[in-house]
Amino acid sequence: MRPDSVVIVGGGLAAAKTAEHLRADGFDGPITLIGAEEHLPYERPALSKDYLAGKVDADSLAVHDAQWYADHDVDLRLGVAVVQIDRAEREVLLADGSRIGYGALVLATGSRSRHLDLPGAEAEGVLYLRDRGESEALKDALIADRRVVLIGAGWIGLEVAAYARGQGAQVDIVEMAKLPLLAVLGPDLAQDFADLHTEHGVNFHFAATLERIEVEDGRATAVRLADGTRLPADVVIVGVGAIPNTDLAEAAGLAVDNGVLVDGYLRTSDADIFAVGDIAAQDHPLLGRLRVEHWANALNQPKALARTIVGQDTAYERQPYFYTDQYDLGMEYRGIVARGTETQVVTRGDRAAREFLAFWLDPNQRVLAAMNVNIWDAGDALAALVGGDPVDSARLADPEVPLADVLPKAP
Ligand code: FAD
Repeated sequence: MRPDSVVIVGGGLAAAKTAEHLRADGFDGPITLIGAEEHLPYERPALSKDYLAGKVDADSLAVHDAQWYADHDVDLRLGVAVVQIDRAEREVLLADGSRIGYGALVLATGSRSRHLDLPGAEAEGVLYLRDRGESEALKDALIADRRVVLIGAGWIGLEVAAYARGQGAQVDIVEMAKLPLLAVLGPDLAQDFADLHTEHGVNFHFAATLERIEVEDGRATAVRLADGTRLPADVVIVGVGAIPNTDLAEAAGLAVDNGVLVDGYLRTSDADIFAVGDIAAQDHPLLGRLRVEHWANALNQPKALARTIVGQDTAYERQPYFYTDQYDLGMEYRGIVARGTETQVVTRGDRAAREFLAFWLDPNQRVLAAMNVNIWDAGDALAALVGGDPVDSARLADPEVPLADVLPKAP
């Protein structure tokens, strides 16, 4: 049954897109969007790229401008968090003491940075990157000759490293694995990213264990590793992953397990409550239980969700997608390789020139994931291959064979 009103909790991309699609699908009841940040809902990828670099302004990050919310009759409550869900009364309680009733409730509370838990971690000069203010603080800190120690060689850490090197800062990266991005890319392709950064003057410290952050007068001055290495630092940037903001859902008794558990239609264990974006641990119709912390997921899931809320049940079936920009390397990645899956990696193109495609094949020669590095005309063909029929790996590797023609030849 179509709800009489919708309350959306969270002020990010998934929240704003949910409001947009509800209106596009003809929902004409009250929509209230409650966001803890002061800003209009905005997109985060540029925080470690063009916004950090000063190439785009804050307005361009916004999903919609203020007028859009007014024109579409979306009641925006910004700068105030929801502190409790009262499922019995079908109300949310806000930090300012007000209560708002809902017919349907959408949780789009996203993620927060995982914080370090070790001596010195709270010192001044230890920075994180999740929101606009933190990106602005990084911009101020990352200037020529600053000694920067980055903890974690994940996507965001590597993008920040690229920016910092571009500014002329000295960059050390401390990583507990043997290579950057190892879990996603595997050793061979992870080495390409290590080489990229090494060529740009980054010093990696792999297989490292952190011991503490040295502090003088309240400020971080160095990072100490367990093997005794001391890395002097003017700035320490921590990029060790994100934690889904599931506290509200958990306190309300919804099923939560590394994210709010939702079915293929993004419905939680309460029929009137939905979860979308970074916090949604979806029972994906094609891929099984999956929580995706990427922009495209927050962009696209709300379309399916809005349909379901207005009574046209629509499962979310897209493959995961994400992208990164580091120095002059741009990359897109489609699909997913579940941890522990045995894969064969096939590449085609010029790896030395950093213009190539890579594919992860399962033992049945099905493409689980595909990556394009500095090649921008293959997106549709790659999307068709990921999750599709088994391919002939030799043809896949051969740049002379069109991507549309890599299925095994009939005998
Ligand atoms: P969020 O964007 O996290 O928004 C959630 C919002 O809800 C926040 O504003 C939060 O304050 C608010 N909130 C939380 N709790 C409450 C509450 N109780 N009451 C009210 N409001 C609340 N992905 C890519 O695919 N490619 C990239 O290149 C890329 N780059 C990134 C760079 C950075 C620096 C960061 C931080 C992320 C990047 N991502 C990237 C990931 C992408 O931005 C996220 O997947 C996306 O932001 C998720 O959107 P969301 O709306 O689910 O959550």
